[in-house]
Amino acid sequence: MEVKMGVVSFQGDVEEHLAASNEALKKTGVRGTVSTVKLPEEIENIDAVIIPGGESTVMGRLSTYRRSLDLLKSRISEGLPVLGTCAGLILLAKRVFDRVVGETGQPTLGVLDILVERNTYGRQRDSFEAQIEIPAFGLREFRAVFIRAPGILETGPAVEVLASFAGRAVAVKEANVLGTTFHPELSGSTAFHEELLKLAKQYRAR
Ligand code: GLN
Repeated sequence: MEVKMGVVSFQGDVEEHLAASNEALKKTGVRGTVSTVKLPEEIENIDAVIIPGGESTVMGRLSTYRRSLDLLKSRISEGLPVLGTCAGLILLAKRVFDRVVGETGQPTLGVLDILVERNTYGRQRDSFEAQIEIPAFGLREFRAVFIRAPGILETGPAVEVLASFAGRAVAVKEANVLGTTFHPELSGSTAFHEELLKLAKQYRAR
């Protein structure tokens, strides 16, 4: 049984996620492949999906990929494991807020019960790295890279907080949905990709 992972490649840091996924496959010894996905017929066939960082407004509004976005939404709602990072997390969120414009109303998949604030730490120059702990994975040190990162302001009752930084949730899980405000594909650790693989295996075996 092979696990098929897909990295959504509308936009964003796709290559880094492909590399981290390949490393996670190697490390865990799970038999599987990872490839980029864009079209509905590609999304149809995968056992797990990654939505990378980039620009959430662009990703959510790509009318060329309307059918792909609709399919992602329905497949994730039906249990397809997903990891959304940074803009990918925003695209998963039920509600999106911006300090300047308030609730943005931007199109999202709405599969993760959080209120997320865009650019919560400021502009590009306020991007930073921090050593954080990921208690849920038993990791004492994890290099988290925050790039114009969003902030999770509220989490719904079914949302588990996997890690926090400066008093705020920065990694969350709701059933088959994983999300981080930082970029785990740039951290040098494959912990989040391994967690996604674990969910993918369970999903395949269901
Ligand atoms: N600021 C971007 C957004 O709101 C996210 C940045 C990122 O993914 N690194 O979509």
